[in-house]
Amino acid sequence: MCESNKHSENPSHFEAQSAAKEIPTHVDLKWDEYREKIKGFQFFDPHIHMVSRTTDDYQNMAQAGIVAVIEPAFWVGQPRTGLATFKDYYSSLVGWERFRSSQFGIKHYCTIGLNSREANNERLADEVMEILPLYIYKEGVVGIGEIGFDDQTDLEEKYYRLQLELAKEAKLPVQIHTPHRDKKRGTERSMSISLEHGLDPSWVVVDHNNEETVKSVLDQGFYAAFTIYPFTKMGNKRMVSIVEQYGSERIMINSSADWGISDPLAIPKTAALMLEKGISKETIQKVTYTNAIEAFSKSGQLNISDFEVGVASDPSDKYYGNTVLRGGQQPKQNRNSLLIE
Ligand SMILES: [Zn+2]
Repeated sequence: MCESNKHSENPSHFEAQSAAKEIPTHVDLKWDEYREKIKGFQFFDPHIHMVSRTTDDYQNMAQAGIVAVIEPAFWVGQPRTGLATFKDYYSSLVGWERFRSSQFGIKHYCTIGLNSREANNERLADEVMEILPLYIYKEGVVGIGEIGFDDQTDLEEKYYRLQLELAKEAKLPVQIHTPHRDKKRGTERSMSISLEHGLDPSWVVVDHNNEETVKSVLDQGFYAAFTIYPFTKMGNKRMVSIVEQYGSERIMINSSADWGISDPLAIPKTAALMLEKGISKETIQKVTYTNAIEAFSKSGQLNISDFEVGVASDPSDKYYGNTVLRGGQQPKQNRNSLLIE
């Protein structure tokens, strides 16, 4: 076995947790009824794994107002057999996936790094560290990520520290994955190590927060990202309460949608719920769009002009001779029609 995977049966980002504390709602809210209310909003999802998602997802995301995404490099589920699969994966994040996204009208950025789970395979991790500089300086790479702790092992710490140094050298923001188990300790440890390496907390996005971690993250000057992921502690009703309590400064939400049971529409749905709960449009815009842009544009690789007036896509475009249209398809299908033509 080529990695420490005693938890390999886990879903990707989150394990099942005890039932979330419910904010009572008087009605069963239906997305279909609420999507109209957020028409005109633009959303930015700063954490989503599109290589694991379908063309339906891209179409639904664009329709719901998502104009740009960041795809962090992470664990693909299948244990790697060698360095070449990392090369292909990083290449697809800056290549084919970015092209595929553009074909659906969504601007795609990425963060590049060695994720914590795979840091536990030392031989491979050393090889990956050698090739990271070939990718992190590429166009559209807006940070080093997602890095940090999973099982909180010594090897995870070793490669986390090395990558913090890489981020400093490359002048790139850092996107930190915090662990699911023993989260509070892992989050504190991630932050103190990054400060120890001299990183400016305003260049560090601490991800997968919850009520236990948010105060300390914000108090120390870091960005606090929240992942709205089904069947876990962090549902969107609780996200509404967090924004009510902590405001919108340095808070951002994301879907972290991946190959697990997740929701690529988590941001527009949460925005609709916030609107329903009386949160102002300005606040909603900050936590679903502006704050993420502010954090990652420090890379110099993210420009709002790339997507704020829409991402132009030419359906006849090709990427190394390949197009998303198979056999002369038309790019847009009427998704509300029963007929498939
Ligand atoms: Zn992720």
